Amino acid sequence: MTEPLINTPITHTSMNGASTKDSPLLLDIENLSVTFGQGVRAFRAVDDVSLKITQGEVIAVVGESGSGKSVTMMALMGLLPPSATVRAQRVVFDNKDMLSMSAKERRGIIGKDISMIFQNAMSCLNPSFTVEMQLGEVLRKHLGLRGAAVQTRILELLELVEMPDAKNRLKVYPHQLSGGMSQRVMIAMAIACEPKLLIADEPTTALDVTVQAQIMDLLSRLQREKQMAMVLITHDLGLVAQNSRDVAVMYAGQVVETSTVPEIFQKPAHPYTEALLQAIPELAIGQDRLNSLPGVVPSQYDRPSGCLLSPRCPYKESACEVPPPILDTPTGKVRCIDSNITSHPSHAATLESQI
Ligand code: ADP
Ligand code: MG
Repeated sequence: MTEPLINTPITHTSMNGASTKDSPLLLDIENLSVTFGQGVRAFRAVDDVSLKITQGEVIAVVGESGSGKSVTMMALMGLLPPSATVRAQRVVFDNKDMLSMSAKERRGIIGKDISMIFQNAMSCLNPSFTVEMQLGEVLRKHLGLRGAAVQTRILELLELVEMPDAKNRLKVYPHQLSGGMSQRVMIAMAIACEPKLLIADEPTTALDVTVQAQIMDLLSRLQREKQMAMVLITHDLGLVAQNSRDVAVMYAGQVVETSTVPEIFQKPAHPYTEALLQAIPELAIGQDRLNSLPGVVPSQYDRPSGCLLSPRCPYKESACEVPPPILDTPTGKVRCIDSNITSHPSHAATLESQI
């Protein structure tokens, strides 16, 4: 199940990028773009995304629905359909240049050293196979296990993901599992090969609130115990605060800010990050209503030529009509005309007047 469905090739956009000198880094993605379709109908779903992930750390990728979080990770996994064109300047994983390696070499990494938990576990499990068969396939294929070793490891994995009554779940089919149990099976499959990087794509979105907390606790425990790096994709800033160290905020296919927790909560540098924070109910206690940005994420047909947030941004200036620079901040980078725009007193007043 973790095998790429379609192994979309990634094309170099530059010959300069593929250095392996950043050894503490586990994954270094530079300027990754994904375009769906061709010609006038071409739609750039991911635009120049750069992400760095160090070994054993958790990075959260946040942004509202449609901001390109899943497509970025699916591009890395080679899971996009043939209508997608993926380009990147650099994709180095574990000191290996993924752009120059053969499809066979990539298949050896994907599903083994990098694995992914998908948004909707129920629909990702094969309905015709039992839990035992689905887990067994991963163990046979990637680890070459056979016979009794497969059985032993399956049970070990189910116990590791705290599957209730694990022994009696081996022969059951996905439709006999609850949402939380399905997610536990997905997690067991994803960690079966002890990956160096686990991508958890909205791992709790489809679950009840109480089960959400259990699954997040489980993922966080496994991440620490196994020293796995993890990309936690979420639109829930509460999960970010509890579970990650680094944060990348995406808007309309672009990373607009990278920072760390708690800095991003105390001092967001990008107006979009600030707006996301102002929309968290827990942080808005005492306010009559939640603040939100006017308007919607630009579609394929109404993308502004400059800053993509500018039609909705309370800080908009004439300089925003051209693509903004990427500036350094004390804890990361921001894609804006000013690295400190949300802290200017005059701008705070502007925001107040718009609310
Ligand atoms: P999210 O941040 O919610 O995970 P996605 O990465 O799924 O967002 O999607 C980013 C954009 O790419 C969206 O506008 C989505 O409609 C578009 N998209 C995703 N998959 C495809 C596809 N297979 N073909 C065309 N457009 C797609
Ligand atoms: Mg998604």
